[in-house]
Amino acid sequence: MTGRDDEGARIAALHRLAILDTEPERAYDDAVELAASICGTPIAMMTLLDGQRQWFKSKVGVPFDETPREQSFCTQAILSDDTLIVPDASADDRFKELLVVQYAPSLRFYAGAPIKSPDGFNLGTLCVLDVQSRALSKPQQDALEALRRMIERQLELRRVNLELVRLERQKRELTELVVHDLKNPIASILPNARYLTRTTGLSENAKMAAQDITSSTEAMLRLVLNLLDISRAEDAALVPKCTPVVVAELLESVRAGAAARAAEQGGTLALDVAEDAGTVSLDADLIRRVLENLTDNALKYAPRGTITLGARADGDSVLLTVADDGPGIPAAARAAIFEKYTRVEGAPHADRSRGLGLTFCRLAVEAHGGRIWVDERTPRGSVFSLTVPRARA
Ligand code: ADP
Repeated sequence: MTGRDDEGARIAALHRLAILDTEPERAYDDAVELAASICGTPIAMMTLLDGQRQWFKSKVGVPFDETPREQSFCTQAILSDDTLIVPDASADDRFKELLVVQYAPSLRFYAGAPIKSPDGFNLGTLCVLDVQSRALSKPQQDALEALRRMIERQLELRRVNLELVRLERQKRELTELVVHDLKNPIASILPNARYLTRTTGLSENAKMAAQDITSSTEAMLRLVLNLLDISRAEDAALVPKCTPVVVAELLESVRAGAAARAAEQGGTLALDVAEDAGTVSLDADLIRRVLENLTDNALKYAPRGTITLGARADGDSVLLTVADDGPGIPAAARAAIFEKYTRVEGAPHADRSRGLGLTFCRLAVEAHGGRIWVDERTPRGSVFSLTVPRARA
């Protein structure tokens, strides 16, 4: 695939690699330096031939980064798949008119091994040049071709990498789209379901069904919102909208929201807010959802236990805690559970856990400049703690 007709496709293949005008990279520089030293030439280059110019991804012994294509040896070299060797350019009709041959540096010797793209186009060359006319020994030519193959493998890795990044982006965009489109219908089911739970005159069964719909919809909405905020945080776009919030009121509203479920399960939900918790500037929606996630987990793992939402001053921060008397979390898993898709294998409900709730919690707390961690509670259970600095830098 080297003929003129393919020139448009060849240039498209080069552009697909998005390598033109990029910074130097060790792998290519190593190959070019080795080519110069093995062939014993003052000049070596990795060239890539764009429409009008040849650009040097890597070079030894040349002060510039590109030259016009019509002034290049490589334009000829890429027309064949074999290494082009020009012992004396001043005696070669194809090259004797080139400026670099006629004037300084008065190049004489050229050997260029065409570099093939992963999809089979000759993109440029690995070439060595000298101001003296000379020849390459067989081992030198073999080495030049081996180095050219190393460059080709490096380009293949580059292509695979680009493809992975593209697929990853596509996957993220698709998830965001689905999640985003789910959010509004779920959010509109919820008030209707809640309304039914408060409606008088319904049979016990209908009430239980309404309660079921409500809690499943709440869980679905939490998952959707967590996913949306995790992907926002990954794009560095999770920016808290902070307003002054009375900590005791925030905790009370979380407790009130979960009280019915706790009572229904036979558990207790208590508040323990110190006087000094006071007011703190935070994104009430985000931190409420963090506390809801933690409370939801506590209710899941300690259904009939005592769960306490706590708050107190802690130096320049406010410390918020959610404590349960459930099974606790093994010490070895305590840091990992805040990472995406991590759950404690073998723990109750592990099969239904997606390992996203605590990731959202960590990202939301970190977006506030705070920290989140978990300790064991004596005699049993877990205490999740998070800090939110009172004044943010
Ligand atoms: P999900 O979003 O699926 O609820 P999380 O990220 O909230 O997952 O939790 C990750 C894992 O941490 C859970 O699978 C569970 O093993 C463990 N975990 C979280 N909270 C508690 C808790 N209060 N008690 C015991 N284990 C917990």
